[in-house]
Amino acid sequence: MASLHCRHFLLLHLIILTATSLPFPLEQDTPVSRFQQYLRIKTAHPEPDYSSAVSFLISQAQSIGLQYRTLEFSPGKPLLLLSWIGSNPSLPSLLFNSHLDSVPAEPSKWLHPPFSAVRTPDGRIHARGAQDDKCIGMQYIEAIRNLKHKNFTPTRTIHVSYVPDEEIGGSDGAAKFVHSMDFENLNIGFALDEGQASPGDEFRVFYADRSPWGLKIKANGRPGHGSRMYDNSAMENLMKSLEVISRFRESQFDVVKAGKAANSEVISVNPVYVKAGVTSDTASGFAMNVQPSEAEAGFDIRLPPTANPEEMKRRIAEEWVPAIRNMSYEIIEKGPIRDDMGRPLMTLTNASNPWWLVFEQAITFVGGKLAKPEILASTTDARYIRQRGIPVLNFSPMSNTPILLHDHNEHLRDTVYLKGIEVYETLISSLSSFIEA
Ligand SMILES: [Zn+2]
Repeated sequence: MASLHCRHFLLLHLIILTATSLPFPLEQDTPVSRFQQYLRIKTAHPEPDYSSAVSFLISQAQSIGLQYRTLEFSPGKPLLLLSWIGSNPSLPSLLFNSHLDSVPAEPSKWLHPPFSAVRTPDGRIHARGAQDDKCIGMQYIEAIRNLKHKNFTPTRTIHVSYVPDEEIGGSDGAAKFVHSMDFENLNIGFALDEGQASPGDEFRVFYADRSPWGLKIKANGRPGHGSRMYDNSAMENLMKSLEVISRFRESQFDVVKAGKAANSEVISVNPVYVKAGVTSDTASGFAMNVQPSEAEAGFDIRLPPTANPEEMKRRIAEEWVPAIRNMSYEIIEKGPIRDDMGRPLMTLTNASNPWWLVFEQAITFVGGKLAKPEILASTTDARYIRQRGIPVLNFSPMSNTPILLHDHNEHLRDTVYLKGIEVYETLISSLSSFIEA
């Protein structure tokens, strides 16, 4: 009894000593604490701390004996590549991708500071990036750590990539990476990239995302007195375009409202700005009796892989912004819409794609349910990988989780995070062991 008391006392003393002598409470090294460490690195735009994120991930890779190298396609924008060499490295390899950067957060609107990674008593880990997409970035590593502990040997080589700038379009990250010799030499056969949380108990999986276009339309016309009715003013021409574009938008939206297609399966067109008017010192800021000679509007357009981009360009040129009305336009295509062989950027989710079958079986094996494969409404770096003709599934194992990417109070439950590690263990082991007949 006495010695037990003594030990208790010693332990207590030690705890007090540690708590008082360290600036931070001593944290255990667990999968959750390592996730929190990664979440605390300030990777939000406009100044993502890429070097701290990469150093941290390298330390994780070293702790489990993974090969690593850093590539840089644009100064100050590193891309980290981890590799676990398979027993048959001549087979096409697997790529598990995630991005290093995060979107900004407004701290005043959050319950906990966005980079504190506070875990509340109910297990929610609050941080920008908790869902998008530092979760998968760490789950890949944790799954490999566990498989290594179990002495698993992959047949195919496994690569894990951490790319910069996904949240700002990826032009200095994934877009350059997929066209490099470094990428070519990886000989990738199949890839996984980020998906989205699912409020229900099924996992969501995406076989394509939509290609974003920015459309600027500009009308020029004769200026004139605000009281006069005459043809071909810039505003009149712009308004005519807005009407035609609105009708197209409604026709697409009606299909969604009728339940015939998901939001992500139609062409969305949303006005994002309108610019016109002659400025003055009046209360409204504009001269109210002058019809301006220029008027402009901007649109966010998203095309699903099933859309025909040439047909869309014809529609814009002939119907939306006809030159005959003294109008001009500019389409800003943000990324590819067809792969290098001219095919739509989609990954097959049927028996003709053996990777899909292995993926599906692995999810069932781990006790997960898969929702019907979807097109992602937004855009990810997967489109650049698909552009090279490589099948990619967008998947983040987060079921029973509210969709909070880019939202205030983004968080992920610890139990969901830990389950995700188990899911990737099964995915990595089955995909890396898969040999085509
Ligand atoms: Zn993301």
